[in-house]
Amino acid sequence: MNYELTDKQKEIRRSMRNLVPEIQTVAEDNGLETLKQNMVKLAAVNYQSIVLGEDIVGYCLAAEELAKTCPSTFFSSMSTTAAFGLPINKFGTAEQKRKYLEPILSGAGWGALGVTEAQAGSDLSGMTTIAQKTPTGGFVLNGSKSFVTNAPLADAFLFLAWTNQEAGKEKGMTFFLIDRKAKGVQISEATKTMGLRGAPIADLQLIDCAVGPEAVLGKTGDGYGQWTAVEPLLWLSVSLLALGIGVSCMENSTIYAKGRTAFGKPIGYFEGVGAKLAIMFTMVDLGRMITQRAAWGMEHNDTEAAILASCAKLFTSEAVNKIADLAMQIFAGHGYILGSKVERLYRDARIAEIVYGTSEMQRGFIAADSLKKFKTA
Ligand SMILES: Cc1cc2nc3c(=O)[nH]c(=O)nc-3n(C[C@H](O)[C@H](O)[C@H](O)COP(=O)(O)OP(=O)(O)OC[C@H]3O[C@@H](n4cnc5c(N)ncnc54)[C@H](O)[C@@H]3O)c2cc1C
Repeated sequence: MNYELTDKQKEIRRSMRNLVPEIQTVAEDNGLETLKQNMVKLAAVNYQSIVLGEDIVGYCLAAEELAKTCPSTFFSSMSTTAAFGLPINKFGTAEQKRKYLEPILSGAGWGALGVTEAQAGSDLSGMTTIAQKTPTGGFVLNGSKSFVTNAPLADAFLFLAWTNQEAGKEKGMTFFLIDRKAKGVQISEATKTMGLRGAPIADLQLIDCAVGPEAVLGKTGDGYGQWTAVEPLLWLSVSLLALGIGVSCMENSTIYAKGRTAFGKPIGYFEGVGAKLAIMFTMVDLGRMITQRAAWGMEHNDTEAAILASCAKLFTSEAVNKIADLAMQIFAGHGYILGSKVERLYRDARIAEIVYGTSEMQRGFIAADSLKKFKTA
């Protein structure tokens, strides 16, 4: 891997660093309007285009700045760009790209991905949403999706449904693009979450939702293959969320440890606190390296790229929970108070080990790949 950033990548980082003071932290009480304003500001520095572009290391640089500044804005924008937009960018028709991607790139459009169901999270074959073909070539969809990030404001959804359950997941699943206003789309009240409270989520129901053949993404039956093709970028994106939260915990803790005094000196100079700062710094730097290494591999079609993205998600998501815990210990009582920054980061960090492939799933995936590489003794 080339560790030297290109001039373009340095420019991406510089313009994001200039922008982030204008990004407001979204919380449950200032909600959707702030999120919308943030998205327009991000579009002004082409953030959405960077996520969907080919410079994946450049995406890492921009995303780290955003995730550090406002994890909820990062997660919500990731759901629109990477989760909803990337499959369309990779597999959509020219018309689908025009209709769904153009508004996203301008910061005005919102998308959401509906894959998970009440009985199908890690194991997608437990999914029950069905798309029944009609004699005219269209489909009628019925089913429910859980935890759909951005559902309260999305203009359109990308849903995974069975088109031929007997064919199994590899050949029997299809992605459909469905507009929010389509008949038969029902969106629940926003779901309350432990962290990332500025990123709105809700459940969705499709009741006899009729769509034409133009709603299919790519070809019927290609859904699972499309999903596995975009998953590594989602893992990388969750790594970037974890990295950004980790950087924020580390920086805030270091500043606090320099200013807070006890027994006549700043607490950072006590070995017990200094050691925590050192661990945080080391974990952040390792997380950044493995994430950028995976991104570089993805850009260069490295055969290890998907595994590296999985390793990056596994490492950074577990590291950030350790880092947030250390930050809480340094801030002590002042961190534990509801509404403190560290308290929010501690809650925000937890999702990284869960969403888009739990740590257990990543371990299974990495172990299976390792076992394939070696012959038995
Ligand atoms: C805030 C939030 C936002 C989300 N946004 C979206 C979204 O926008 N779109 C979307 O489609 N989904 C979304 N999700 C869903 C998320 O991706 C799932 O929660 C995740 O994939 C895990 O699925 P599950 O919760 O059903 O857990 P389960 O799959 O039921 O897993 C439960 C436990 O069993 C373990 N387990 C399961 N199988 C195995 C195995 N083979 N080996 C070892 N352990 C195993 C898991 O690791 C976990 O610990 C979101 C979730 C949250 C909380």
